[in-house]
This record gives sequence, structure tokens and C-alpha cells, in this order.
Amino acid sequence: MPDETAQNAPALFDLTGRVALVTGAGSGIGQRIAVGLAQCGADVALLDRRTDGGVADTARAVEAAGRAALTLEADVTSQDALTEAVARTQAKLGPLTLALNAAGIANAAPAEDMPEEQYQTLMDINMKGVWLSCRAEARAMIEHGQGGSIVNIASMSGVIVNRGLEQVHYNASKAGVIHMTKSMAMEWVGRGIRVNSISPGYTATPMNTRPEMVHQTKLFEEQTPMGRMAAVDEMIGPAVFLLSNAASYCTGVDLLVDGGFCCW
Ligand code: NAP
Repeated sequence: MPDETAQNAPALFDLTGRVALVTGAGSGIGQRIAVGLAQCGADVALLDRRTDGGVADTARAVEAAGRAALTLEADVTSQDALTEAVARTQAKLGPLTLALNAAGIANAAPAEDMPEEQYQTLMDINMKGVWLSCRAEARAMIEHGQGGSIVNIASMSGVIVNRGLEQVHYNASKAGVIHMTKSMAMEWVGRGIRVNSISPGYTATPMNTRPEMVHQTKLFEEQTPMGRMAAVDEMIGPAVFLLSNAASYCTGVDLLVDGGFCCW
């Protein structure tokens, strides 16, 4: 017998009236998800260290969807900058209840030769930066008492080792994000805050579509069971799902969105 008091299913994905903060919102996965959240009804604060106009493009797309946008130039390695970004978000848009942390970098060097500085810089952004972002967001959610939902962008590189890519630091950082996500999910489970991660497979963003990557891209496509890289837009649905009430019983989950890659 259907439960007539149950929520209308499409409404589970509705983000109308919610306030979201997206890091890495000036390019690639963060940019597209930010616009997707606005199309589902959220007002969105857009944080990135880029000053090349990417964030302004995202803001225009958010506003074209009829939602409010706030652009924030900040570096996710600075707790002070993140705290100020969250404060500005709440002052302009209202209580923060959604966060999507996508800021990250990638590079490569053989493990035996990689300079310590290269390792440390990537770790500071990809892993510590996610922790600092989650802390700033969760502190606001705890303080206003409405709880919230946080999604971190990890990678299938946190689960498998990419054949041919010498990126010990990147792979370790993403494994760290997946497990930090579970740890924070458990610490905040009694505070009404859900924390989940998405682990994309090879996705066609500026990180992967540089001209010097053409040969590599072909290999990525051959190695992926679906025979192609993900379009950036294919990360929107998983992000909306995990952030929205549709995932109200999901916390500490890592959702692989990899075209089947990790099955082989
Ligand atoms: P992207 O197009 O380069 O976007 C990442 C954005 O984050 C850029 O605007 C970047 O600015 C910004 N950023 C980097 N470090 C930052 C910092 N310290 N503070 C603030 N912003 C910072 O890359 P993407 O492919 O969309 O990647 C987004 C996330 O998805 C990353 O965490 C990445 O590891 C992950 N991911 C990507 C793939 C893929 O195949 N593309 C697969 C799995 C996971 P700059 O340009 O100045 O660095």
C-alpha cells in the first residue's frame, strides 16, 4: 500500500531555498555542479583561487538559472580565508546547508624522483584543503542548527592506481579524501550533517583535455568499460542526489562515477 504521506519523489531533488557553497567553482567539475545546483533551486556561493574569469562565467550561469550567486576569491589551504568565505556566504545568501568541495590539482612525477615540495603542495590542496573546507562549512551548520549535506570530490584514483600515471601523491590524497569523508560523516552524524564523496573516473575537464593529453585521453577511453570519458555534466546528477533529501539516509558513502572502470 503506498504511503500517502511520503514526499513526492521529484521533490526529493528540489533544492529551492537552499544555500550552497562550491569550491573549485571556476572550472570543470565544480563549475558545472554549481550551475546544476542553481538549476535545482539553490543560491550558490562560488569559491576559487582563479582570477581568469571562470568564476564570473559560473556566476552568470547561476543567475541565468534565476538564482543568486556570490563569487569568492580564496585559497582552500587557508582556514581563515575559508571561514571568511562561509561568513560572507551566510551574510549575503542565508544559512549554509549545502557544500560541494571540488577544488583540487593534479600533476605527476616518478615516486623515486618527486620533489618533496611537489608532494606537499598537492597534499595541502587536495587533502588538507578538503578537511579545512569541511570544517569551515560544518562549523556554520552546527552553529545555525539546521544541519546540512557536504559532498567532497575524491577520485577513482583513491580506489585504484591509474595505469601509466606516476602520481603517488594524487592517488594517496584521494584515498585520504574518501576516508576523511567517512570519518567526518561519523563525527557529525548526530549533528544533522551528512558527508559523502563522489569518485569520478576520467572526466573531460581542462585537467584532462589539454592538447598534450590527446594520446593519454585515447588510452583513458580504451581502459574505461563504457569506452569514453565522462562528460562534466555527468557529475551533476550524482552531486544533486547526494546533496539533496533524496539521499537523506546516505552518509559516509563514496559514490564511484567511473563508467564501470573499477569493475575491471
Ligand atoms: P579543474 O578544471 O582544474 O578545476 C579545479 C578548480 O579548482 C580550478 O579552478 C582550480 O584553480 C581550483 N583550485 C585548485 N587549487 C585551489 C586552491 N588551493 N584553492 C581554491 N581553488 C583551487 O579540474 P577538475 O577536473 O574539474 O577537478 C575538480 C576535482 O575533481 C579535483 O578535486 C580533481 O582531483 C577531481 N577529479 C577530476 C577528474 C578528472 O578526470 N577531471 C577525475 C577524478 C577526480 P587552478 O586552475 O588555479 O588550479
